[in-house]
Amino acid sequence: MNIHPVRVLLIDDDEEDYILTRYIFDEFKDHQFRLDWLDNFDDGFRVLNENRHDIYLVDYRLGERTGLELLREAIKTGCAAPIILLTGQDDKEIDFQAMKAGAADYLVKSELTAPLLERAIRYSLKHARSLEEIQNSEAKFRSVIQSASDAILLVNEDGRITLWNKGAEAIFGYRESEVIGLPITSIMGAKYAQKALAVGVRFTLETVLTPFDGKIIETAGRRKDGSEFPLELSGSVWKSSEGIYYTAILRDITERRRAEARLVHEATHDSLTGLPNRAHFTTILQEAILCAKADETHQFAVLFLDLDRFKVINDGLGHVIGDKLLIAIAERLQSCLRPGDIVSRFGGDEFTLLLDNIKDSDTVTEVAERLQSKLAAPFKIDSFEVFTSASIGIIMSDASHDTPESFLRDADTAMYRAKEAGKARYEIFNRAMHVRNMNLLQIENDLRKSIERRDFRVFYQPIVNLETGENNEFEALIRWEHPELGFVSPTEFIPVAEETGLIIPIGEWVLEESVRQISEWQNLFPKRELSVSVNLSAKQLMHPNLIKQVGEIMKSSALPPECLKLEVTESTVMGNAETALEVLSELCALGVRLSTDDFGTGYSSLSYLHRFPFERLKIDRSFIGKLDSDAKSEEIVRTIVTLAENLHLEVVAEGIETEEQLRQLQSLGCQFGQGFLFSKPVAVAQAEKLLSKGLEFKMPELSFPIELNSIFEVAEVQ
Ligand code: C2E
Ligand code: MG
Ligand code: MG
Repeated sequence: MNIHPVRVLLIDDDEEDYILTRYIFDEFKDHQFRLDWLDNFDDGFRVLNENRHDIYLVDYRLGERTGLELLREAIKTGCAAPIILLTGQDDKEIDFQAMKAGAADYLVKSELTAPLLERAIRYSLKHARSLEEIQNSEAKFRSVIQSASDAILLVNEDGRITLWNKGAEAIFGYRESEVIGLPITSIMGAKYAQKALAVGVRFTLETVLTPFDGKIIETAGRRKDGSEFPLELSGSVWKSSEGIYYTAILRDITERRRAEARLVHEATHDSLTGLPNRAHFTTILQEAILCAKADETHQFAVLFLDLDRFKVINDGLGHVIGDKLLIAIAERLQSCLRPGDIVSRFGGDEFTLLLDNIKDSDTVTEVAERLQSKLAAPFKIDSFEVFTSASIGIIMSDASHDTPESFLRDADTAMYRAKEAGKARYEIFNRAMHVRNMNLLQIENDLRKSIERRDFRVFYQPIVNLETGENNEFEALIRWEHPELGFVSPTEFIPVAEETGLIIPIGEWVLEESVRQISEWQNLFPKRELSVSVNLSAKQLMHPNLIKQVGEIMKSSALPPECLKLEVTESTVMGNAETALEVLSELCALGVRLSTDDFGTGYSSLSYLHRFPFERLKIDRSFIGKLDSDAKSEEIVRTIVTLAENLHLEVVAEGIETEEQLRQLQSLGCQFGQGFLFSKPVAVAQAEKLLSKGLEFKMPELSFPIELNSIFEVAEVQ
C-alpha cells in the first residue's frame, strides 16, 4: 500500500501538452497522483537517475533528441521505474521500438483520456512491482545459493555448466568464469568421465545427473588440480521454456569418509598395537578359507603365537612397560612378514598370523624361525632390557578344516604342545593332536578298543655313554597308532590312561613287550650288554599287582633283572612316599634298577634321593634345552651332577639337541645322555639298524654330529 501519492514526472518540451496532461490528471477519480514536469532531455535524464519518481511519462519529441533515446539510456543506467512513451501520432515502428527498449506502455497523446491514462499508469506500476518482486526473489535465491557451502550448479541439456556458486568454487577450485560452459564431466571422477566419453552426453545427464530426483548418490568429483575426492550428489531435473535443466547439489564428503574409515579402523584394529584385532583376523581368515576351497593349489598357514614370559614381565615391571613391550613386539612381528601376510593381536599376549599363498611348509617354518630369532634379541624399554620368547603353533590349510574357529583352535593346540615341549619353539599341528580336543570319554573308548586291537607300539631311544659314545641302552617310549589320527604322543593320552586306570593294562603290555624285545636283541647282539628303561606312572607304581607282574615278566624272559630299569618321576614318588618306598624297595629286591625321571621339575628333595633306592637320576630336558643360552641352567645342571656323584648315582641328561649342549655336559662330567642329537625314539626296525651297525656314537672333537646323521637314519615319527 502506498504511503505517499504516486509521483509522476512528465518530460515533454511542449508546455501546452503539460497543461493538457494536468487537466487529465485532475479528472482522475483517484487523487493520489502528483505530477511534476521537465521540459528537456538533459534535465529529464538527470532526474530520472535520481529515482525520485514512481513512473515517467516521456514524450517522443524532446528537441534534438527523442524520448526513445532517453528511455534506452535511463534503462541502461539502472532506472527501474516504469516509463510510458507518449507520441503525437500512432506509429507502429516507434511502438515496436519502445516495447523492445523496455517501455512500460506506448500512448498516443491525441487519444489520451483520463481513464485511459490512469489505467495505463496503474497497470504499469503493478507490472513494475511484480518485476521488482521477481528480481528480489531471484536475488534472495541467488544469495542463498552463493552462501551455501555445498556446490550448487545448473547444467543444461547439453551437459554444460550454466551456474556455479561460491561453494562449488571452494570445493572444485574453479572460478565461475573458468567453468561456465564446460561439460559436467570435467568436474567428475575418471570413472564417470570415461563412461561419458564412451556413451556420450546423454549418459552423463542420465547417469550422473538423472539419478537425482530426490535420491542421493555417492560418486567421485575431480578438482581443478586433477585430484579426485568422494562426492555426494543430489538434485533434480526441471523443464523450462528454454529446455531441460539439471540442478545439482554436490557435497565434498572427504571428511565424512575419513571419519567412517577411522571408525571402521577402530572396530577392526587393536588400539594398543594398531594391528588387526581378533574379529578382523577371523574375517580375513574366512576369506583365505574360501579362496583355498575355490582353488586347490591355494595354500595358507595360520600361526598362533603366545609369549612365554609376558605375565612375569607385566607383573614384575608394570603394565606401562608391558604395553610398550607389546607394541615393540608387534613391530618386530610385522618386520618378519612377507607382503600380503597378516599379523593380528588376538588378545593379551597372543598374536595370530596368516601366511597366505604359500608353496610348502618350509616357507612357514622359515617364517616361524625368523619370528623366534627376531623376538630373541633383547628389547630396550625405558631403562629396562627385556628378554622374551614365544611359543608358536602352526596349522597348514587342509580340507578337514573349514572354519576360522577350527583353524584357530588347532593352531592353539599346537602352540600348547610347543609350550609343553619346552617353550620358545614351534610345533606344526598334526591330526594326532586332536586328542586334546576330544572329550575324555571318546579317548577312553578309543583307548579301550586300541588295547584290544593292540594299536600300540614301543619306540626306542638310545641312551648314550657321553664319555665313550657307547650305546647299550634304550628308553622304551610308547606310541599309540590311532586308527584315524595316526601316531599319538604319550603326552596326549597317558594322562587319560592314568585317570581311567587303563594305564595298568597298557603299562603291563609295554613292560612285557620291551623286556621281550631287549632279550631278543641280546640274543641277536650277544656281545652287547643291552638294557632297557621303562617308564612307570603313579597308578602303576601304586598298583598292588605291580611286584607280581614285574616278577612274572622277568621270570618268563631270560633277561637278567639288572637289564631292566624302571623310571619314576619325583612327583610320582612324593605323592605317596611311604607306599612308594615299600614298592621301590621290593622292585629293588627283584634285582631291577630304578631311575628318577624328569629330575628338577618336582620337589627335588635331597632326602628322598637319599632314602629311595635309586641308582640313576635323569635331569629333565627343560634344563638341558637352556644350557647354551641360560647361565642359571648350567649352574643347576652342575649342581645336580655334583649331587649325583656324591650320592653315587648315575646321571642321564635328557633332551640333548645340540653339539654345544653335549660339550657342556661332558665338561660338567655328566655320564649319560639321550636326545635328538643322537637319535629320536625310533621303531624296532630302525633300532635294529643302529645296533647292527655296531658303531658307537662318536663324541666331539671328531666329525660330529654330521657323521651321526649319516650313520643313523633317524625316524621322522616320534
Ligand atoms: P620321558 O620319560 O621323560 O621321556 C622322554 C621324552 O623326551 C620322550 O617324549 C622323548 O621323545 C623326548 N625326548 C627325548 N630326547 C629329546 C630331545 O632331544 N628333544 C625333545 N624335544 N624331546 C626329547 P615322549 O616319547 O613323547 O614321551 C613323553 C613322556 O610320556 C615320557 O617322558 C614319559 O613320561 C611318558 N611315557 C612315554 N612312554 C610311556 C610308557 O610306556 N609308560 C608311561 N607310564 N609313561 C610313558
Ligand atoms: Mg622317561
Ligand atoms: Mg624324562
